[in-house]
Amino acid sequence: MGGQFKVLIVGAGLSGLAIAHGLKKNGIDYVVFDKESSPRDRNWGVTIAWSHPFLEQLLPAELFDRLSECQPDPELDSKQAKCEGVMVRDGATGDMIVSPQFPGIRRLNIQKTRNNWSKDINVKFGKAVTNIEVTPDGVTAHFHDGTTESGSVLVGADGGGSWVRQWLLADQATPQLMPYVFLNFPMSFTAEQAVKMDKMMHPIVDVGVHPKSMYIGIFLLDKPDLHNPETWIFYILATWPKTETPNEENTDMVAELRRRVEDWADPFKSAVQWIPEDVKAKAVPFRIWRPPSSGWNNHNGKVTLAGDAAHNRGQGANNAFRDSERFVNAMLKVKSGEMSLKEAVSDYDADVVARGRQEVEISRIQTEAFHDHAKFLESPVVKMGIKPSTSVTNGDSGQKA
Ligand SMILES: Cc1cc2nc3c(=O)[nH]c(=O)nc-3n(C[C@H](O)[C@H](O)[C@H](O)COP(=O)(O)OP(=O)(O)OC[C@H]3O[C@@H](n4cnc5c(N)ncnc54)[C@H](O)[C@@H]3O)c2cc1C
Repeated sequence: MGGQFKVLIVGAGLSGLAIAHGLKKNGIDYVVFDKESSPRDRNWGVTIAWSHPFLEQLLPAELFDRLSECQPDPELDSKQAKCEGVMVRDGATGDMIVSPQFPGIRRLNIQKTRNNWSKDINVKFGKAVTNIEVTPDGVTAHFHDGTTESGSVLVGADGGGSWVRQWLLADQATPQLMPYVFLNFPMSFTAEQAVKMDKMMHPIVDVGVHPKSMYIGIFLLDKPDLHNPETWIFYILATWPKTETPNEENTDMVAELRRRVEDWADPFKSAVQWIPEDVKAKAVPFRIWRPPSSGWNNHNGKVTLAGDAAHNRGQGANNAFRDSERFVNAMLKVKSGEMSLKEAVSDYDADVVARGRQEVEISRIQTEAFHDHAKFLESPVVKMGIKPSTSVTNGDSGQKA
């Protein structure tokens, strides 16, 4: 391999930034590109459980120690608050069905996390990759503005609609559209309602499954001012089977959600009833993508995928960090001469593909179970709780635990 070893990372989401920190920590040259002009506005929360050890390995100690700053509520310590788990309720009664526990579990607000992690690393925003050229020496990324950048290996960490995946797999890269109406939107309440909701709901994850084949989750997104509850931002995720009604994706769905929540219990019923009149919510396509069992052609280890680009849905953030840790370890093996680039990336790919296939399939089954109340007790979250579908011991083969 001619020149200095360098990693091109496409995408400054959680997986791309975690890879960048891990490489920087280990003295491996890298650069991150993102098509957005700055960390983007879209915001949601993710649950971090079994990926904490990977983050500790990848992030500089001072950033890892400040993870609570990225939480929706920076003051929440799940252990102290005795809420080290998630809550799944019967939506009709509000009673707990199951509450899987995981020590140290926390939520991260994606926007705060990306803002914090984008500092002090080499990220070039406003660069959309539009072509990839594999050369005898490495790989060159071409961007929409006509610029190029060359490196030894390129990792596509460019999210669920990954361009790099499309480049690698063409038609096989197309996600599957799930047959559900999917709403995901933020809102603030009055100060009084916000305080009530904060007390009523589980602070990590509070979701309800309803006998009438419907799912609602109420989550905290941010507390910009801890002392002014009217500034707190919550968000609702709601899904139900698609009907023949056309244009669900072009219609404001808040009225429909209000109509559907009549026979729900709290906290879901109040959350929906308290949505301010000016809030609008459009349904978005509910897509999943499972890598093919044959994986992808990694061009002798020069092009691969991580995070949602490699497997979309299925404990997304935990798996993204698992990928990031595995990818950085693969690069360390190349750096030390223990493995060739082709061997190290092929090993990495084998883990990502096997684990990704399993996690996405579990997620698909879980999504169906959220809409099939009678069978819910047989579903993965009840049977498995919060854990990865494969062993996560560092350096293992990723086989089923
Ligand atoms: C509404 C919602 C709720 C979720 N809830 C959870 C949850 O509760 N728990 C959980 O574990 N996971 C959850 N996830 C999934 C989780 O957010 C992702 O798995 C995780 O953020 C990893 O993302 P990523 O870094 O792989 O991709 P992303 O965060 O999507 O980042 C991809 C980046 O690539 C950039 N990009 C895209 N195309 C290009 C291009 N051509 N050139 C350059 N840059 C490009 C994008 O701008 C973006 O910044 C949720 C996701 C959504 C959408």
